[in-house]
Amino acid sequence: MSYSDDVIARVKAKNPDQPEFIQAVTEVIDSLRLVVDNDPKYEENAILERMTEPDRVIMFRVPWIDDNGKVQVNRGIRVQFNSAIGPYKGGLRFHPSVNLSIIKFLGFEQCFKNSLTGLPIGGGKGGSDFDPKGKSDREVMAFCQSFMTELAKYIGSDIDVPAGDIGVGGREIGYLYGQYKRVTGLATPGVLTGKGLTYGGSLARTEATGYGLVYLVQELLKDRGDSLDGKTVAVSGAGNVAIYAIEKATQLGAKVVTCSDSTGWVYDPEGIDLAALKEIKEVNRARLTEYKKYRPNSEYHDGRGVWQIKVDIALPCATQNELFLEDAKQLVANGCKVVAEGANMPTTMDATEYLQKNGVIFVPGKASNAGGVATSALEMTQNSERLSWTFEEVDAKLQQIMVNIYHNIDNAAKEYGVAGNYVAGANIAGFQKVADAMLAHGIV
Ligand code: NDP
Repeated sequence: MSYSDDVIARVKAKNPDQPEFIQAVTEVIDSLRLVVDNDPKYEENAILERMTEPDRVIMFRVPWIDDNGKVQVNRGIRVQFNSAIGPYKGGLRFHPSVNLSIIKFLGFEQCFKNSLTGLPIGGGKGGSDFDPKGKSDREVMAFCQSFMTELAKYIGSDIDVPAGDIGVGGREIGYLYGQYKRVTGLATPGVLTGKGLTYGGSLARTEATGYGLVYLVQELLKDRGDSLDGKTVAVSGAGNVAIYAIEKATQLGAKVVTCSDSTGWVYDPEGIDLAALKEIKEVNRARLTEYKKYRPNSEYHDGRGVWQIKVDIALPCATQNELFLEDAKQLVANGCKVVAEGANMPTTMDATEYLQKNGVIFVPGKASNAGGVATSALEMTQNSERLSWTFEEVDAKLQQIMVNIYHNIDNAAKEYGVAGNYVAGANIAGFQKVADAMLAHGIV
């Protein structure tokens, strides 16, 4: 049995109740075969065994009192996966679906994504099965304070730096930071990222993931003597990543003709009106059904369907598993040339394979949405310097990071004889830096 197959089998045997974690490990190790099965040092040093076992898992009780005076108890989790290249870094997710398998899958993936940014950040992830939806501000604050009272023992600006994720936005980060300060006595803004601008947040963090996605696509096209100018683009989602992907793509001369939310989707043949979209989603927190009021010539459809539209480029920016095999077939039939993921894991495995086999350039989120965490790392740098950079400075650094990520994954794919396979390129490039650091540190 090859080294890679042996490790996959061991991870499955050790974690039978963690399907998402097993899936992520299998996918990553599958594309590392060319590297790890051809050089004995990885097996001799048990690099894959060590990479698939988190440094530590912290699981804790989070008691809090709801508005009816009733005591509620949630579970808190922080997985500190790998700190070979820097402090653990990764978001906190508050959602009822959160469990150890999902947090381990996200933490494992985060190690490779963070490595790809070129910045010194290790991988971690955390969260709780608490659902902020429908809770009062006071309840959210009570939960966040209890969660942080325990988590504060394990984090720090040189140890582990959490950020937001699903269910954890500016409000939650504010409450978490306030309690961190209170229980530790440390006014260290670098302990969390995604902070408000009044207490150590970074300009351009809001835009970073969407902008970064488009910067990477821009470089990929430039490398082929092409550009975004005049291209037609389909975007899914209408949240943070989608809005700023639409904004940057439009600024660079593309026409984005779709967006969606969890109830329906919009087709605007004249190009999405960004001011209208921001007003609907960011100001009014309303549904996309409102869009037609601003743009009478647009179409609104219930359900899903953005991938039916004939476009040159598709950017899935909504959620996991939202671009299926039948969508991939439709995109190929319509002549789509590039699919780059803004969301985490929006494309199913069979859809990814179909796109790759049919000549579509496919960029996995691990590479193309890394602009968010990269800008979080820039927030940490500003906190360490006790300085705030201008929007333009942060944006220029973000752009350079995305250009570097593209060439890094492109070169890794070429070097291992799978030119243009950016799934393999991203996994190999992300892996190599972490593995080299682990080899340098000895058996720890
Ligand atoms: P938001 O919550 O801001 O937006 C998500 C958007 O997707 C919403 O418009 C939501 O609609 C929509 N959506 C959700 N489910 C579906 C569905 N089944 N079909 C169509 N639309 C749907 O999240 P973000 O924009 O921040 O995140 C989007 C993705 O990007 C996630 O996978 C996230 O993990 C990933 N990501 C985000 C980063 C960031 O910096 N924000 C960084 C890296 C990755 P509705 O409003 O109806 O719920």
